[in-house]
Amino acid sequence: MLKKLLLLVILSGFTLSAQDYFVQKYKPFTAEIPSPETFLGYGIGEHHTRHDLIVAYLEKLAELSDRASIEEYGRTHEGRKLVMLTVTSPNNLNNLNNLREAHLAFTDPKQKVSNYNEVPLFINLAYNVHGNEPSSSEAAMLTAYTLVASQNPEILKYLDNAVIFIDPTINPDGRDRHTQWVNTYQGSPEVADPQDAEHNEYWPMGRTNHYWFDLNRDWLLAINPESRGKLKWYHQWYPNVVTDFHEMGTQSTYFFEPMKTNASFDPIMPKENYEDLNTLFGNEFAKSLDSIGSLYFTKEVFDGTYPGYGSSYPDLQGGLGLLFEQASSRGHRQTTAFGEITFAFTIRNQYVSGLTTVKTAVDNKEIMRKYQQDFFKSALTNATKNKVKGYLFGDIHDQNRTKAFIDKLLLHKVEVYRSGNRFAVPTQQPQYRMVQTMFETYEKYRDSVYYDASAWSVANFYNMKYRPVNNLDLGEKISTTQELIKLEPVSKSSYAYIMDWDDYNAPAALYYLQQKGIIASSAAKPFSVRANKENKSFNYGAVLIPVSLQKVDGTSIHQMITEAQEKFNVPFYAVNTGLSDNGIDLGSGNISPIKQPKAVMLIGNGVRSYEAGEVWHLLDTRVHMPITKVPIRNFNKLNLDKYTSLVMVSGQYNFTKNQIEKIKQWTEKGNTLVTIGSASKWAIDKKIVQEELISKEKDSTQIAIRKLYVDARENIGKESIGGVILKVDLDITHPLSYGYRDNQLPVYKNNSVWLAPSKNPYATVAKYAEDPHIDGFITKKNMAEHIMNSASLIVSKVGKGRAVLFADNPNFRGSWYGTNRLFLNALFLGDKIKVPSQD
Ligand SMILES: [Zn+2]
Repeated sequence: MLKKLLLLVILSGFTLSAQDYFVQKYKPFTAEIPSPETFLGYGIGEHHTRHDLIVAYLEKLAELSDRASIEEYGRTHEGRKLVMLTVTSPNNLNNLNNLREAHLAFTDPKQKVSNYNEVPLFINLAYNVHGNEPSSSEAAMLTAYTLVASQNPEILKYLDNAVIFIDPTINPDGRDRHTQWVNTYQGSPEVADPQDAEHNEYWPMGRTNHYWFDLNRDWLLAINPESRGKLKWYHQWYPNVVTDFHEMGTQSTYFFEPMKTNASFDPIMPKENYEDLNTLFGNEFAKSLDSIGSLYFTKEVFDGTYPGYGSSYPDLQGGLGLLFEQASSRGHRQTTAFGEITFAFTIRNQYVSGLTTVKTAVDNKEIMRKYQQDFFKSALTNATKNKVKGYLFGDIHDQNRTKAFIDKLLLHKVEVYRSGNRFAVPTQQPQYRMVQTMFETYEKYRDSVYYDASAWSVANFYNMKYRPVNNLDLGEKISTTQELIKLEPVSKSSYAYIMDWDDYNAPAALYYLQQKGIIASSAAKPFSVRANKENKSFNYGAVLIPVSLQKVDGTSIHQMITEAQEKFNVPFYAVNTGLSDNGIDLGSGNISPIKQPKAVMLIGNGVRSYEAGEVWHLLDTRVHMPITKVPIRNFNKLNLDKYTSLVMVSGQYNFTKNQIEKIKQWTEKGNTLVTIGSASKWAIDKKIVQEELISKEKDSTQIAIRKLYVDARENIGKESIGGVILKVDLDITHPLSYGYRDNQLPVYKNNSVWLAPSKNPYATVAKYAEDPHIDGFITKKNMAEHIMNSASLIVSKVGKGRAVLFADNPNFRGSWYGTNRLFLNALFLGDKIKVPSQD
């Protein structure tokens, strides 16, 4: 006997069993296929289901049914499986490779195919990108069961006409973090009181993945294995329709597209996408939700302009991405202003929307196929109209940063060509819109209030100097980044080795050697010296490893240097003389030892988990250097003396006077306090440093201005900085800027932290440039009153130590390769900064 789950449909006041609501509509079901309830031993909605059980259930379906197969498309940071269940008719499944080829013909502008109705439509039902928005993964199991086990003619029609790819959990690590929380605190009877622990997750919460990244921003940036695996899958299948299920605040109803009209306008998207297709699907969602009595809304909120959402990336690939937002029960049952909302109720809405997506897609197969074909055709015709024929880029001084950018382009199937150290991306290619996304910047905006970033020209994230050209000599096409960097083996020296500090991986290579006990020094001035039999110029910050100072013999040193070069692809140079041709000699007082950094970061309630995660991710995955993460609740027990650097990212630090004094005194001993965003403001407010913020100008008029109430949200929203790319002027002689050769650097600003330039003339490392706007929306008022008067990065003397204050986050979303170096310099070279006295 199936256990009956009571699904309380509060708003319409009737009760219904979870099994009933779909069994009724799609019966009969094959008895050999277990329902989720039979498999799990509890009804869907009674508990939150662990990801491994979800995978096990889908594997069971694939094992038992000739309609389904399952593949693993990746593993998460924590080692969880990322899976895709393919469901279609047994005939289609046997013929999948041919179907795929027939399907891909529509994405290739060179092929002239018109069999729109003969090829099944490809649909990707994707769930639970935010781990603590859990209803959709439960709906995924019910949906998979329905499609695999139902014998209903309606379902059989879907299977004949579509290949449905079910991705049950995009973010398994976050999901399990949340699942563990709510199941742990679930009461019996259930406690609907919103104040109960069950409804109030603890930091860092399950929304994000292992490194606290929002995977629903990562489709474009592709930093995490979840997105990288998904993108590889995506570009094999190019689905016509993709769902993206979410949850929002408990006091809401249900949202589906169309989104906010103005903001959804994207200059590079075909307007049919958001005008025709979203309306077509929206009308069907409305009908289905009407039929089960669920309330919903459309159009008022959200925008799909940022191309890194699960609901916007598919739009850039000729598909239709669909966003759904369900009011969350945050737990199993919670009291709201409207009554009670149960987990099962939220699952039901997602289930209904998922199957309605399949139905609508199948009913409009020809329209969807033709749309995708036109999308890629118009890419080529639009490119023809563009005077820009391509972009040239490359940085010979930093091959690893260049490589990382190319890796991104290739992942998005953008064609890249190479000629020596110069790389070219032509506009004339099927992925023209991705080329625009990566390189184009925008000055004009239809709307001013953005749900997220309004700037995403990824080339600027990488500080990749590029230029548009009207004539293009392509060179040789590259398909992988594996062979991009070719280094000569390091010859053996009995005198010294030198590493450029310019390469993105230089800090990782240095840390690797420091771990092995190697003593390395940093040059505060440039020089040139005979290295590897030629005259080689070294920039500020070059790293010197003298052989005679080391505790091990010359052969071992050579071996370690060779390993470091091979592991991190950073060139090392052997030198046999201390006498330079130009600039300082190798025994100069301007070359001083680099202390191995020991970093600690405060985390926990109040701390912005994204920023903390970005620091952790950078040091773990790119520098291979540990950072101790200390919860604020343990701050009083924390022995700071073990560390050289303390990182405080944006957040609320409600410290007592004594606690603030503890940080200050530790810094004064010669250590480095690194603050980002609002933590920089905090350090100034708490007088840890003698710096200032730009104060709000006082209203010159005493006349109270009156505005329409209904416009309040829009007016206030306009002044917040959603995310804009600005140019700073960098002092490249400062230790914090070692490794940069150009004083113009793009930075990302998405906060309202306005640091006044330091009164100390040597301490404002980065100030916004004369004409700072590169990309994204910012009001004239913010530009004139704030940006033009403020600094992006300053350093301030604190006793024998110093505080490095970042106004702007140098590690944003793990993808600001261009500014990561500023942050790493603060950790590695903090004690090189001898700030002249400010008194
Ligand atoms: Zn969400």
